Amino acid sequence: TPHTIAIDGPAASGKSTLGKLLADHFGYIYFDTGVLYRALTYVALEQAVDLADAAALAKLAQTSNFEVLPPTIADGRQYTVLANGEDITWPLRAANVERNVSQVAAQPAVREALRDIQRHIGKSGNVVMAGRDIGAVIMPDAQLKIYLDASVEERAQRRAQELNARGRSISYREVLDDLNRRDAKDAANTFLADDAITITTDGRSPEEVFQAILSVIGV
Ligand code: C5P
Repeated sequence: TPHTIAIDGPAASGKSTLGKLLADHFGYIYFDTGVLYRALTYVALEQAVDLADAAALAKLAQTSNFEVLPPTIADGRQYTVLANGEDITWPLRAANVERNVSQVAAQPAVREALRDIQRHIGKSGNVVMAGRDIGAVIMPDAQLKIYLDASVEERAQRRAQELNARGRSISYREVLDDLNRRDAKDAANTFLADDAITITTDGRSPEEVFQAILSVIGV
């Protein structure tokens, strides 16, 4: 039977690192659902769609073609994202998308439009899905649910390091402010499923977190 592992938690809590470790371990694919919200935000900004217009955004979600493929270029990417055929893998991580994505994701019509795409991927099975509401809303039948948390200071430190390593010059303070703003806007759609394993990752390496999960599930 197809299996789904859900990983939820706030921005920069370590979901993608853990998700990839688990996916490699079990031979599953890794799917980062934040990519869909980011891709929609990118396309909306590009087409100058009013980000407060829920109906226009939902329509854009339904008419856009988003694809996540194995990496097509060896430039450090984990996967390639196409929006209507255009490679937007790195633009998805840019400041303008990051600053606007939570407003887009807060619209119920947007969440509904992206829900079916996510469920379709989840039901295809053998997938690790990372997001905010996977265990509680998108895949409530997931066989394993993990909720990753970490203090906002720890998350800001990690994210600042990651962004600077990728050549974006940004201070810890700016990253901290951005994360606090995004956390507040995302809170209403971030859920701890009641059957999730919660792990706080402050001061723990991705490998330690990974091993802790393997021991909890007894593999
Ligand atoms: O995980 P990531 O930081 O890439 O997600 C980008 C944004 O997409 C989040 O800040 C949130 O607004 C939205 N998101 C969401 N639900 C998910 C995944 C992401 O609302 N399952």
